[in-house]
Amino acid sequence: MRPIQILPLLCLLLAGTSATTQAQMNIESEVELTPFADGVWLHTSYAVLRDGTRFPSHGLVVREGDTLVLVDTAWGVEQTENLLEAIDAEIGLPISGVVVTHFHADRLGGADLLAAEGAEVWAHPLTPGLAKERGGAVPEFVFEELQAPGDTAPFGNLEVFYPGPAHTYDNIMVWLPEQQILFAGCPVRGAEDKNMGNVRDGDLAHWPTAMKLADERYGSAKHVVASHSEPAGPELFGHTAYLARLAADEAAAEE
Ligand SMILES: [Zn+2]
Repeated sequence: MRPIQILPLLCLLLAGTSATTQAQMNIESEVELTPFADGVWLHTSYAVLRDGTRFPSHGLVVREGDTLVLVDTAWGVEQTENLLEAIDAEIGLPISGVVVTHFHADRLGGADLLAAEGAEVWAHPLTPGLAKERGGAVPEFVFEELQAPGDTAPFGNLEVFYPGPAHTYDNIMVWLPEQQILFAGCPVRGAEDKNMGNVRDGDLAHWPTAMKLADERYGSAKHVVASHSEPAGPELFGHTAYLARLAADEAAAEE
């Protein structure tokens, strides 16, 4: 087993997760960088739950010419520092831009560090306000085109997509047309998942519509990468919509 480092900045790094979750996990400082497709790497941070389970959190590194684009930071400042070291050692290209896919700490925990390194940090127009409220790093640039569910914005050769409210009101996805990969982030649940995860800041009622919009546009994707599960395919949209309907029905029954 790898040693688990207790971070003094833990509470800060976890800004944006629920109080229960904060009490139940630490985040390992080491980050994995795994080749995923031509010019694409998966970066993975791990939270360690109280029962010892390692809970993964993925983002992407994408080569765009002579520079790199990051889809989400690692889960915290120290983790992002380690990610930058790994990128330097294994890829050796500078990072020009970062797309953070919503305001939670597992997505933008290292955004200030990347901005200080000279990368432009981009997000949905709602993200800066939500991040500020939670005391998280605040992205400097926003995709003004992303207003209504289904809107897209170009980002170099990539496409950024707003499925509308789901896991959060500001969640966005990133499409890699060349490799036919969709980074779907937290709005999409894994094949093994039987529940919706953290729904506290989101919109269960709109979630199935968000999945339908994503499926309409990226239903032929080769890979769909969700934040906290193994990369899979576009079947995850329907699976997630089903789980969202179940959760909404259960919530209604409890009222
Ligand atoms: Zn989240």
